[in-house]
Amino acid sequence: MTDCLFCKIVAGDIPADKLYEDDEIIAFWDISPQAPKHFLVIPKKHIDGPSAITAEDDALMGRIMRVGSDLAEANEIGDNFRVVFNNGAVAGQTVFHIHMHILGGRPMNWPPG
Ligand code: 5GP
Ligand code: ZN
Repeated sequence: MTDCLFCKIVAGDIPADKLYEDDEIIAFWDISPQAPKHFLVIPKKHIDGPSAITAEDDALMGRIMRVGSDLAEANEIGDNFRVVFNNGAVAGQTVFHIHMHILGGRPMNWPPG
């Protein structure tokens, strides 16, 4: 998608501090971290958000979850991290290319804000 910030990161048109990349997925540190460790795991394929996931994305979304957990472990937050998908502007989504937040390195509160 031409006017999507995260598609531009996937394409290399906008730089990002990457932790991981394979043929389907990239992970990069969030530009505005909300915890000592805060990174995003995204598919290279453009999907608007969680509501737009279809059955053909099942394996891809499963890989995103597993890769994110492995990266949390590799970055020393494997025992304590928060996973967030915001869906829709009212829920806090600001970039409409699906992304899994992983946050850790501090205690987390519940309920989330
Ligand atoms: P959302 O609010 O849509 O769930 O999350 C979007 C996230 O993307 C935010 O945490 C925001 O800080 C991050 N973000 C926005 N623009 C950029 C960028 O250009 N580079 C990086 N690394 N993160 C970004
Ligand atoms: Zn996109």
